[in-house]
Amino acid sequence: MKMHHTLTENRIMDAAQEDDNTGFCVACGADAYSVEPDARKYECEECGERAVYGAEELVLSITG
Ligand SMILES: [Zn+2]
Repeated sequence: MKMHHTLTENRIMDAAQEDDNTGFCVACGADAYSVEPDARKYECEECGERAVYGAEELVLSITG
């Protein structure tokens, strides 16, 4: 998966540990809220791309 450069491992890990339904848009790097941890390809409110993933889902993708 191609990640926006602002989506660092620390940022994703922190969000996953907070466990507060935060997700990120991999296209523009925006935070997304009320996103299920395992969300995939939700529409981004910032850029309109279907590129929002839940924090847990992104952890899986960066840790393999
Ligand atoms: Zn976006």
